[in-house]
Amino acid sequence: MNATSDNPLPEALRFRGPAELVDIGANLTHKSFASDRDAVIARAREANVTTLILTGTDLEHAEQAVELAREIPGVHATAGVHPHDASRWSPTLANAMRDLHRWGETVAVGECGLDFNRNFSTPAEQERAFEAQLGLAAESGLPLFIHERDAGQRMQDMLRAWRDDISDAVVHCFTGERQTLHGYLDLDLHIGLTGWLCDERRGHHLRELVGDIPLERLMVETDCPFLLPRNLPAKLKGRRHEPALLPWIVREIAHWRGTDEAELARATTATAYRFFRLEAA
Ligand SMILES: [Zn+2]
Repeated sequence: MNATSDNPLPEALRFRGPAELVDIGANLTHKSFASDRDAVIARAREANVTTLILTGTDLEHAEQAVELAREIPGVHATAGVHPHDASRWSPTLANAMRDLHRWGETVAVGECGLDFNRNFSTPAEQERAFEAQLGLAAESGLPLFIHERDAGQRMQDMLRAWRDDISDAVVHCFTGERQTLHGYLDLDLHIGLTGWLCDERRGHHLRELVGDIPLERLMVETDCPFLLPRNLPAKLKGRRHEPALLPWIVREIAHWRGTDEAELARATTATAYRFFRLEAA
């Protein structure tokens, strides 16, 4: 490691991926990254996290993500409306999203889906916005980047109705139960895993499930700045998660799956390239 680089990550938190990695869920348009985004991306590269998919959760953030993707090599964007903001769905917003989906920088429709855990928008509003975005995915041919919490059954019902019309979908930050996981796998979906399984309090059940996900359906993500892994070997000031810590999550998943770390790294990267239709660098 370059001792002269001004890397604010403690030495113990500087992991390097055993192969190039793709962080499929990085909220780098979040305000917590406003002042040092370039340094965060540079640290990701040092950690061998060479490709970042920036999550677009509403029109403003999706536009920002697309702009960053246009400027920075190895950065791509998703464009959608998060279930928390589903109450704001409108025909005008649908058209603005449709425009964003035409740009080459946009590699998926989303983040969209259902979150019946918090219900910041009503379930009916969430279903309406998600249904419309399923339509936009079918129309554009782009894969879907899906958020689901406590809504596994309803999500599966809606996806089943659309499955033949959409190209592909990943359920990001999967935290559900075995039955839900197998329902998604039966629908031929992909699964995104975060540092949730590093959490002693609530990630325990996931550790027994990760082996059920076929290697070619699994992708990895930080969901930063959220979900900082709870079992990092050193404290991080500010507790902001960032893409440079993705190799730690890969190590954890490899451990609980009983898969070789380098093999897992290579496989998830190959899957992400295929899923988001990225050109090899
Ligand atoms: Zn999410």
